[in-house]
Amino acid sequence: MQLSDRIANLKESATLAMAAKAREFKSKGIDVIGLSLGEPDFKTPKHIQEGAKKAIDSEKYFSYPPVPGYQDLREAIAEKLRKENNISCGPEHIVVSNGAKQSIANVMFALLNPGDEVIVYSPYWVSYTAIIELTGAVPVFIKGGIESDFKATASQLEEAITPKTKSVIYSSPCNPTGSVFTPDELEAIAEVIRRHENIMVIADEIYELINYTDDKVSLASLPGMFERTVTVNGFAKGFAMTGWRVGYIAAPLWLAKGCTKMQGQITSANCSIAQRAALTALTSDLGPSYEMAEAYLKRRELVAGLLNQIPGIKNNMPQGAFYFFPDVSHYFGKGDGETVINDADDFCMYILEHAHVSLVSGEAFGDPDCVRLSYAASEDDLKEAIRRIKGLLEKLS
Ligand code: GLU
Repeated sequence: MQLSDRIANLKESATLAMAAKAREFKSKGIDVIGLSLGEPDFKTPKHIQEGAKKAIDSEKYFSYPPVPGYQDLREAIAEKLRKENNISCGPEHIVVSNGAKQSIANVMFALLNPGDEVIVYSPYWVSYTAIIELTGAVPVFIKGGIESDFKATASQLEEAITPKTKSVIYSSPCNPTGSVFTPDELEAIAEVIRRHENIMVIADEIYELINYTDDKVSLASLPGMFERTVTVNGFAKGFAMTGWRVGYIAAPLWLAKGCTKMQGQITSANCSIAQRAALTALTSDLGPSYEMAEAYLKRRELVAGLLNQIPGIKNNMPQGAFYFFPDVSHYFGKGDGETVINDADDFCMYILEHAHVSLVSGEAFGDPDCVRLSYAASEDDLKEAIRRIKGLLEKLS
């Protein structure tokens, strides 16, 4: 028996694969510091946990929820988007899913035909391309290098557009680079998109609450852009709720309906109790989220300083999310006499095996000179991890 070609050809998620490898090392008793998975090391705030407990105790939420999510949650999300993001939407535009990853998959399957092109801002989050390819569409990359803060320009976007272009996707704050589009850069994207009436932009704003800049603009809030944009967001990162799996989109009605149809056939709605927890998160004080963001900012400073002390490593200064994406190509071709590091994949394996720190190769994110380091870890772990990496790299020649 054989897997379908579709699944046989599907790449494993590099972030999850590296996290699994780190777990495997740990299960053998090796003291691995996991900086591969983009996962808050904080617990879900207590009041959100209480919201879920209350929902269970009320015995009101044990049946199938409506496919696009509970009406009160969709209303609360729409209100948040209107008030905080200036996106004029109502509950009918919102579809709640099992994490932002499923939201993105719903959109891609609802939107793309085989052969359609999707312009992907690169470096990009690993699963964008895998999902695009699953639909039979083709990713077309526009790349921003480290010298331009990893941000491709609006002229690159314009040049990449062909009659087959159906969509464009980016994340801001960006996973894996931490870059944040400025309002001017977003306006420049909007200008290009307004000239091409058949293109939908997928704006992934999952790291919205971890943004160290004052630039908190949503593309969908710009004139004429709500009809041309799917805003993706969720609760995993900003509320430390990765395991609860609650993501959502705000999209024009026709596309929200398409996503609901897709979700109705694949998963129905997402977990009722998780949705009630999400509603608590959204309608309560955001203090804990801001505190977590402050802690990430402190760690960013710490990691920036420590990386700076490793010869040959170059990085941008991330403006949001919780990743560094350093260029480690200085070490390619170097070795310890036994093993030679040829590329970012080798680099990550070498660091995992000898320094017991897990990172993710930039190959999976579209930049083979880089590796991704998640600083959603304690300050002690970050210090120790970088101490180990530095010590190991010093021995290479
Ligand atoms: N989004 C996180 C990351 O990039 C979680 C893992 C995943 O779903 O890829 O590490």
